[in-house]
Amino acid sequence: MELIDKGARNLGIALSEKQLAQFQTYYEELVVWNQQMNLTAITAIDAVQINHFLDSLTVSLVYQPEGKIKALDVGTGAGFPGIPLKIAFPEMHLVLLEATGKKVLFLQHIREKLCLENVQVITGRAEEVAHQFRYRAAFDLVLSRAVAPLVTLVEYTLPFCRMDGLLIAHKKGDIKSEIEQAKPAINILKARLLEVKPVNLPEFPDNRSLVVVKQLAPVPALYPRQSGLPVKKPLG
Ligand code: SAH
Repeated sequence: MELIDKGARNLGIALSEKQLAQFQTYYEELVVWNQQMNLTAITAIDAVQINHFLDSLTVSLVYQPEGKIKALDVGTGAGFPGIPLKIAFPEMHLVLLEATGKKVLFLQHIREKLCLENVQVITGRAEEVAHQFRYRAAFDLVLSRAVAPLVTLVEYTLPFCRMDGLLIAHKKGDIKSEIEQAKPAINILKARLLEVKPVNLPEFPDNRSLVVVKQLAPVPALYPRQSGLPVKKPLG
C-alpha cells in the first residue's frame, strides 16, 4: 500500500500500520467480490490506491473530519469516498447509503472484515431515506462521488445536511456549466455554494475538483421529490 501511504502523507495524513493493513484488506476483498458482482472497473493495485483510496481522501483538502462528526455517503457503491475516509479518520460516525442491495452486502462484509465501528449501512434511495426523521438534517458532512449531475445531487444530498453542515461532492472534468445549472437549485434548497476546490495533486492530472456547499436553513419539506424526479426534472 505504498501509493496510498505516500499520497495520504502528502495530504497531511499519517497512516499507521493498522490503517495500511485495512486498506490492503479492503483492496483484496474488493477484487474478490468484484468477480461476482460489478463493483468497480478498476482492479489493478496501483490504480485502486490512487483512483479509489487517495481520491476519496482528497476531501481533506477542504475539510478535516475531526472527532465524532456524523458523515453520510450517498450512493457509496463499493464504499467510496466514505470507507477510505473512515479508515483515515476512525473517530467519525459514518452512514453509507446505497440503492443496490448486492453492493450493500459487500459494504456489510467489508465493515465486519475491517472491524469498523460506528458505521451503519442502509439500503435505499436518497429520495426516500431523506424524508425519514432520523436521517433528515442529521449530518455534519454529506459526501457523494460519481452519482449524479450536481443539480440532481444537491436535491439528493442537502436534505440530509444539518444547518451549517456541508456537502462535499467529487467532480471530474470541466464543471462550469454543471455548476451554473445547479445554482438555482442550491438557492431553492436554502444552501450556498462555498467553494469549488481544484484537486492539484500529481496523482490526478485530469482536472478533478471538490464542490463544497453549505446548508444555511432547513430544506423545504417537499424535497427531495419522489424517486426519479430529481433526474428527470432537475430543479430550477
Ligand atoms: N460513489 C461510488 C459509486 C458510484 S456509482 C464511487 O464513486 O465509486 C453510483 C452509485 O450510486 C451506484 O451504486 C448506485 O446504485 C447509487 N445510486 C444512484 N442513485 C442513487 C440514489 N438516488 N440513492 C441511493 N443510491 C443511489
